[in-house]
Amino acid sequence: MEEGEEEQVTVAPPHVLIFPLPIQGHVNPMLNLAELFCLAGFHVTFILSHYAYNRIHHAVTARFSTYPAGKFSLRSIPDGLPDEHPRAGARVLELGSSLKSSAKPLLKQLILTHQGQPSVTCIITDAFEFVADVAEELRIPFMFFRTFSACSFWANFCVPQIAQAGEFPIQGMSHEEMDRPVRSVPGMEDILRRRDIPRFWRVNCDINLAKQTMKSAIQESRRAKGIILNTFESLEGPILSHIRSHLEPTRLYPIGPLQARLLRKPNSAGGGGGFWKEDNNCMTWLDAQPDDSVVYVSMGSVTELTQTQLNELWHGLINSGHRFLWALRPESVVGSETDDRMGQGQGQGLGRVVGWAPQEDVLGHRAVGGFLTHSGWNSTLESIIAGVPMICWPYFADQFINSRYVSRVWKIGIDMKDVCHRLTVEKTVRELMEKGEKRDDLLQKAYCMKQTAIKAVNNGSSFDILIQDIRSIII
Ligand code: UDP
Repeated sequence: MEEGEEEQVTVAPPHVLIFPLPIQGHVNPMLNLAELFCLAGFHVTFILSHYAYNRIHHAVTARFSTYPAGKFSLRSIPDGLPDEHPRAGARVLELGSSLKSSAKPLLKQLILTHQGQPSVTCIITDAFEFVADVAEELRIPFMFFRTFSACSFWANFCVPQIAQAGEFPIQGMSHEEMDRPVRSVPGMEDILRRRDIPRFWRVNCDINLAKQTMKSAIQESRRAKGIILNTFESLEGPILSHIRSHLEPTRLYPIGPLQARLLRKPNSAGGGGGFWKEDNNCMTWLDAQPDDSVVYVSMGSVTELTQTQLNELWHGLINSGHRFLWALRPESVVGSETDDRMGQGQGQGLGRVVGWAPQEDVLGHRAVGGFLTHSGWNSTLESIIAGVPMICWPYFADQFINSRYVSRVWKIGIDMKDVCHRLTVEKTVRELMEKGEKRDDLLQKAYCMKQTAIKAVNNGSSFDILIQDIRSIII
């Protein structure tokens, strides 16, 4: 080497292994993160269950085909459930434990045989303890990507305090009692009511169970090098501060909204990864509708409706007189009652039902003026990015708290939780869609929130720090 010449040190790009809970609402943000990593030049291995792989591998492979060969690898392992298992409704919870017993033995082998890619330098996973065990055994740093909101993460953290303060139990309470405030969650004293507590805790109010669950959640979180959340400071800043103070020294990365972060990247392929086939004809139908005239209805990928709930929602929508587009997943209605008047709305040209919609495109369509949602966190963020106000009808888990924040804190929607009656649905849809003070206010707040979300991704600090931190890992 000549004097004055600097030695060129080639640093291998990081190789991140991503392992989500293999259901739509967890796979979507993790795929977005995977794509952002590919754009940053990382190698990515993405793990699905065989079941999920069979549903989405064509779409995912197509999506990542724009990246150089070997940058993205899709692998699969069994989830331990029979094919006919619904992996929906309350039974979706069985997926975590079955995955643990069937996937754990294979995971180590899969990490070590990395098919022509460099060795794995970082693992990002849902809150799977068993993945953390394997990562520690192999001495690979790992992070948890909790795919729900910070407000629900924090409220769950504080469940032992709620129980200790005697604000449980809430099972069997009257309507009025359910509206009483819950004061024992720091930062949420004037926000949370008993009815906003996720259904699981409404029923299982055992203080020992609560303590044990939270203790292990905190301990697990602290094992990780970092916790990633699909949220942003200007949306959930005060709550993020509370979480930070409890997790230190584990780093918190609020890098959302990932959907918008990806939209900003000119080379991103985007989309691709739906568990059901998208019905794109609904976009043509939307093209024929006036601006801001359609209510988009979707209850996400896990919710199951009873036939009665379906009828009430349906007739409420029809009676409101507003147009609607309903993404009603196949096999998402349980129970045997039928209502042969259904379909009339479709006949009148008022509504259109599809099995699965290209939701982000739908929400961004000029004809869509409102969203009747189950308040899943991805759907909530997608609505925020599109500036579309919501009616929230949460089904379970984090959705109960998300819907409270949407209505009470961010004021970009109306919370209809715990009610499913056609008169209420009709009234709420009218409130959301018809010109007047309420709609003007919701639209104005939704517009401001959209701008805030765009600003959050333009100033990418947490995301840039995450990229730097992963680059700096040396094994
Ligand atoms: N989704 C979709 N088409 C549909 C319904 C839902 O693409 O017809 C997508 C939606 O865009 C979101 C995800 O499925 O990204 C659902 O995630 P969310 O967290 O909202 O709810 P979950 O399904 O986890 O309850």
